[in-house]
Amino acid sequence: MSSSAAPLGNTGKKSPCFLMTIDMEDWFQLVGAGLDYQFKNGEGANDPWDSFSPRLHRTVPWILDELDRHQRKATFFVLGWAAHRHPELVREIDRRGHEVASHSYHHKIVYRQSHEEFRTDLVRSKNVLEELIGKPVIGFRASTASITDWAMEILAEEGFLYDSSLFPSTYHDVYGKLDGMETDELVSRHSSGILEVKFSCLPLLGKRLPWSGGGYFRLLPLWLFRAGIRRIRESGQPFMFFTHPWELDPETPRLNTLKKQYAWRRYVGISSARRNFMNLTAAYDTTRIDSYLRAEGLL
Ligand SMILES: [Zn+2]
Repeated sequence: MSSSAAPLGNTGKKSPCFLMTIDMEDWFQLVGAGLDYQFKNGEGANDPWDSFSPRLHRTVPWILDELDRHQRKATFFVLGWAAHRHPELVREIDRRGHEVASHSYHHKIVYRQSHEEFRTDLVRSKNVLEELIGKPVIGFRASTASITDWAMEILAEEGFLYDSSLFPSTYHDVYGKLDGMETDELVSRHSSGILEVKFSCLPLLGKRLPWSGGGYFRLLPLWLFRAGIRRIRESGQPFMFFTHPWELDPETPRLNTLKKQYAWRRYVGISSARRNFMNLTAAYDTTRIDSYLRAEGLL
């Protein structure tokens, strides 16, 4: 589909919504730390991630309570590896009315895998999540926004109805690309047939600044970040926010294997992120991606 495609949804009937998304991975599961799971030695005793102390059982309940406090809903993109080790958290996310979606099983960069490696990992994550919640998992988010066109075809073949991995901006060295999808609309339909729900960007001086969460959210003063949200919604587009449990954990351990260029943007603003997240959940009536797509008649 070309960039001239008609915008989907956002028909202007009501105020554009605020999509809340949480990428549920633990503090040591990041790309660029030299710990990326390669499965060279099989699983079990050789799993490098098993040598770290998990913190999801501390951070995810805090997030769930905070969302409940204001009756907010969210989509949780859950890493299959983490679901396998924290099944009770996944069931609790579902029980409290949030969407459970896939963040892959092993958090690998999509375009660095073979098609079959990607498919195997994807199906494994879908299976573990569906077994836990007893419902179909229809949404996917790629590690580090590393989506690419062939992966969208595989997502469609494996029963996914939407992907939410594209940053339609050029400000990152790892992000992927989707042909013809880098437009100002938050939702577009890909040639594979599934929907792409993009990260929000702020149009400025002919560019699109990433304005969706992560380092920008932690670096900028909250009033400025919220002013950007207002501008995006005033343009008629919904706003999509993303965060991670480790970002909302003031005691998150520091990974000393992280390359210098990643370390700064990884930890900047961590001390105030929890307070700012509380401000957002109080201020905005957040919703889950699948609810939004259904309300717009797109699913
Ligand atoms: Zn991730």
